[in-house]
Parts: sequence; structure tokens; C-alpha cells
Amino acid sequence: MTYFADLAPYTYAEQESIRLPDGDVVFLPRYHRVAVGWLARDREFRHAAVPTGFVEALIRIHDGPGGHANGTRGFHCCEFCPAPDLLRDGLPHTVHGDRSLFLGSAEIRLPVLQPPRRMFAAPNLIIHYVIEHDYAPPAEFVDAVMAYDDSWAELRVGPWFPAGAHVHLRNGRLSTLTPNGVKRVREIRRKR
Ligand SMILES: [Zn+2]
Repeated sequence: MTYFADLAPYTYAEQESIRLPDGDVVFLPRYHRVAVGWLARDREFRHAAVPTGFVEALIRIHDGPGGHANGTRGFHCCEFCPAPDLLRDGLPHTVHGDRSLFLGSAEIRLPVLQPPRRMFAAPNLIIHYVIEHDYAPPAEFVDAVMAYDDSWAELRVGPWFPAGAHVHLRNGRLSTLTPNGVKRVREIRRKR
């Protein structure tokens, strides 16, 4: 998998693509993306316990819009686990409590709205690294996870998206993201 040092600028993909129930929102981000959790086998990383509730908060982010960034068809496996132990039904999976998470094919985005505003960009395997390998993310990221506001996931235009971003609908049509929902591009053009 691509390696970034923690807190280095994220430069993996120029565009952001985030999956919503209506379709995929694709846009060029104006926020500064900060890499966290892009581990590799030949690089050292910090081991430590995370605060109580951290993994649960990270899983809630994973379950919301911020957990569906830059999805891929294939998946990356953890480089620290023997692959056969990780795979179930051919997919890498991680268990936490009553959840079975299939990780390795999307990224997480976590906004920090206080200045300096930025967006943490992590592979969703970061959940696995924390649970199985005692990976200790940087304190800034831990603080942001603990401060995650679940109500962002309810917003049509949450802190992840620029208003007016195009939504590529499942039926192949193009739409535009607005606070009230998605509108067909044709309707929007008529109003101008
Ligand atoms: Zn592993």
C-alpha cells in the first residue's frame, strides 16, 4: 500500500470521490489533506493504547459519509498480518465487539473545523491497525476522532463536500449536491 508518514500532506489522489446513498460525489478538494495511518511493513510506527471510546468513534466515522472516500474495486491487505488469517470470504475483515468490518477498499475523511482547518485522510485499515496492532495515531488525529460530531452525517452538504458538487447518480445521470438534496442538472440550468 502507499506509504505516508503520519501528518505528511496526502497526495495519493488529486480528486475526492465520496459515496452517498444517491451516488458518488466527485470534486477537487479545497481543504488541506493530512495523511494518518498509511503504515507499511518496513516502517516503524508508534504503539500505544488509545483512549476509551476511540475505536467506537472511528467506526462511527467509517459508517458515515467520511468512511466512503476514494473506494476501489480491489482491496489492500494488512502488511502485518498473515493473509490467510485475515481473510473471510476472500475479503480482509476485522472484528470489534459485534461488528465484522470489511476493510481495505476505501479511505476515511475526518474534518477539523477549527483553524487551521484541515481534513485527515486515512485508509480505513487504520481501524484494523488500532485494534490488532496497537497502532497509536498522532494526538491531533485522536483528538479529532473523539470530537467527531455524528450530526454531520445527517447533513446533505456536510463538512466533506463543497455545495454544488456534482453527484454521479446510480442511474448514470448527473446531479448537484444542495443542502436540500440532489437536483437534476437540467432543473438547475433552467433557473439560471
Ligand atoms: Zn493486521
